[in-house]
Amino acid sequence: WKDVVAVASVLMACYTSFKYLKNRNELNKPPVKGGVEELIGNTPLVLIKSLSKLTGTEIFAKMELSNPAGSAKDRVAYNIIKTAEQEGKLVRGEPGWVFEGTSGSTGISIAMLCNALGYRAHISLPNDTSTEKLALLDSLGATVNMVNPASIVDPSQYVNAAKKSCAELVSKGVRGVFADQFENEANWKIHFETTGPEIYKQTGGHVDCFIAGCGTGGTITGVSRYLKRKMKRNPPYTILADPQGSGFFNRINYGVMYDNTEKEGTRRRHQVDTIVEGIGLNRITKNFELGESSIDESIRVTDNQAIKMAKFLSVNDGLFAGSSTAINAVAAVKAAKRMRRNSRIVIIACDAGTRHLSKFWKEAKTVDSNITLEEVIAD
Ligand code: PMP
Repeated sequence: WKDVVAVASVLMACYTSFKYLKNRNELNKPPVKGGVEELIGNTPLVLIKSLSKLTGTEIFAKMELSNPAGSAKDRVAYNIIKTAEQEGKLVRGEPGWVFEGTSGSTGISIAMLCNALGYRAHISLPNDTSTEKLALLDSLGATVNMVNPASIVDPSQYVNAAKKSCAELVSKGVRGVFADQFENEANWKIHFETTGPEIYKQTGGHVDCFIAGCGTGGTITGVSRYLKRKMKRNPPYTILADPQGSGFFNRINYGVMYDNTEKEGTRRRHQVDTIVEGIGLNRITKNFELGESSIDESIRVTDNQAIKMAKFLSVNDGLFAGSSTAINAVAAVKAAKRMRRNSRIVIIACDAGTRHLSKFWKEAKTVDSNITLEEVIAD
């Protein structure tokens, strides 16, 4: 018995030392990332102090602008590329093209990731997109195809143009995929798998209200479906913040998708005419449709309110917001007015003002720095 105990003790001691050394090694490893793609996600949740104090609630921004290419679209672009690789449409280490029709953010994410992963990006976009987005795509080396703004039923519209360019290249035997962010389910799924769970963890499972805008619908569908499922007993109230001229407001509140052509100045069918980029649409996409039933309400926000809010957030919180973030913040203040004190609201901060200098911020910078919150949300 003595021998058995002695051998067991020696084994125990060896095991403990091995574990100690392994842990020490793990701890000594520098906190490095294996590539820029590993910087995607795990974005911070930040309290917007000014709005929280003035409304008596807690309003948090999910800082998607902290992603490496500057927007929530990094998550989507990466998942679309990974899905294409799993389906054998792209092969890592071999040449391949990613095509997309986008008014900016997704194209920039695709262009960055294509560089990181060894592919080429081909982006079709309307020629009224802000110049800094175009300059970024150019600098990232993407092939850019500028088209006239047009309705989705027009073959020259940017999404249709991207699909066509992809089909032409693939028919010549070149490897390529059409990212198709509006219809591709890799979009909402990545928000269901990552953005939603991150918000749940960061809030300790306490969210009373979730607010996002809708472009493709991927963010609001993924996050809302996750939070509603995870918090079955006490699900957060989901609000779609919608810019002027977009049809989602009527679709969610009254069940009919129609634009407000005369009332709000939308001039092109299916194309929202607003200074706000990236959100608002007059057609139903798969990524929106799949999450529609988890959206409780839509709040309309005017361009003017968004412009004033952007200046307010910059001056009071140092939060230099893009246009859709400002739209969400206006909706949060309107919602807060009818919520209980200390309610917790989470909004998406999709991208930063640096993406919008030549268009949205050209107006926002002229707003008086002393503007009050009441003045911001007045029409
Ligand atoms: N904000 C910005 C700046 C965007 O570019 C987009 C996407 N077009 C959104 C919000 C909306 O995100 P989603 O496509 O997931 O609805």
